[in-house]
Amino acid sequence: MDFAFDARTEELRAKLLAFMDAYVYPAEAVAEEQRAELASPWDTPAVVEELKAEARRQGLWNLFLPDSEYGAGLTNLQYAPLAEITGRSPQLAPTALNCAAPDTGNMEVLTQFGDDTQKKQWLEPLLAGEIRSAFAMTEPEVASSDATNITTLIERDGDDYVITGRKWYISGAMNPDCKIFIVMGKTDPDGADIRRQQSMVLVPRDTPGVTVKRAMRVFGYEDHYHGGHAEVIFDRARVPMSNLIGEEGGGFAIAQARLGPGRIHHCMRLIGMAERAIELMCRRAVAREAFGKALAQQGVVHNWIADARVAVEQLRLLVLKTAWMMDTVGNRGAHAEIQAIKIATPRTVVDIIDRAIQLHGAGGVSQDFPLAELYAGARTLMIADGPDEVHQRSLARRELKRYV
Ligand SMILES: Cc1cc2nc3c(=O)[nH]c(=O)nc-3n(C[C@H](O)[C@H](O)[C@H](O)COP(=O)(O)OP(=O)(O)OC[C@H]3O[C@@H](n4cnc5c(N)ncnc54)[C@H](O)[C@@H]3O)c2cc1C
Repeated sequence: MDFAFDARTEELRAKLLAFMDAYVYPAEAVAEEQRAELASPWDTPAVVEELKAEARRQGLWNLFLPDSEYGAGLTNLQYAPLAEITGRSPQLAPTALNCAAPDTGNMEVLTQFGDDTQKKQWLEPLLAGEIRSAFAMTEPEVASSDATNITTLIERDGDDYVITGRKWYISGAMNPDCKIFIVMGKTDPDGADIRRQQSMVLVPRDTPGVTVKRAMRVFGYEDHYHGGHAEVIFDRARVPMSNLIGEEGGGFAIAQARLGPGRIHHCMRLIGMAERAIELMCRRAVAREAFGKALAQQGVVHNWIADARVAVEQLRLLVLKTAWMMDTVGNRGAHAEIQAIKIATPRTVVDIIDRAIQLHGAGGVSQDFPLAELYAGARTLMIADGPDEVHQRSLARRELKRYV
């Protein structure tokens, strides 16, 4: 078993680590200052565009996309340690490299299932980082962790589709640069096969009938850097039938294909978030004294740090193994592993960040350290892209099958 990264990964890692030190970390404070001056809090601060230009110049661009015609052509195993590094600054680094969700998943969908016209109109500007996008599946009225529940209608009318429904927590949609929604709805709501009722259509933001109604918060955060999370209304929004992605009835399968890479990317970045939390915890522990000695000399703090280190090493190995399986047996073959990391990573990283917050006292929950925001981001990943319980159910059923 060889645990070393290959030469290309090592080269990109070195480049990316240098890019983070020279550009990304210093930009964190600058972005905050610039945001205060923006017309809308979801506008992109100028420093983010500068980071994008520099990353592109250095070849640190579209690293997530395994397709070598459109993206960097890295395997999951090569991309994993790079995504981890971007997770250390989750607000800025993924966007700087054009590797931020939900655009990554949307670009993958368009690469795999889009036709030439759709690629030209939407994929190319997304790959160039000129526009942003959103993926609209979840609905407030139904339990959307079960995608067969969704009720948005996509009805044929002449040569058009007419879309009617209400979505929420649509990430990225508050950013005015978000020009296109991939909308999941039902073209055949009464179809016998409940997994063939759904289709996906491209709906431009400026389509009459589309209203970005309000920003949804996450523990009070508006997640500006991710373009927020919006409630979006589709009130008889009309698009040509050529906006269908793939075939009618193929929406469920496309959603499944989209989620595999999305989930592992989140887990990779979460590990980077945990590493940042451990670093902050250690720096604070050696710098701060209580009751006559440094916090770093308290046994309980040793336990927190050691447990965090052990957990991160375990998670990283599991994520790398999953990446390797996706590369070797495909996303379907790696299904159980993807579910395992999606269960294990967010909850463990939430625990690690929680300890780091505790060690920082009031500072931990303040805006002066990134920990509170990291916590909020990590905690949502126990829900988004499939709640833990849904993955646990599926994983346990697979395990039990062997015994019945
Ligand atoms: C920050 C954030 C960003 C998001 N971004 C997007 C986005 O860009 N696009 C989009 O479409 N959606 C997005 N979502 C929505 C997310 O994907 C859904 O919240 C998720 O799929 C769960 O659906 P739900 O909220 O309807 O919960 P429900 O389906 O109502 O489930 C509620 C709870 O029920 C429990 N539960 C469900 N099924 C089972 C089961 N089988 N066994 C046991 N317990 C179960 C779980 O604890 C679950 O958390 C985002 C959510 C968040 C928080």
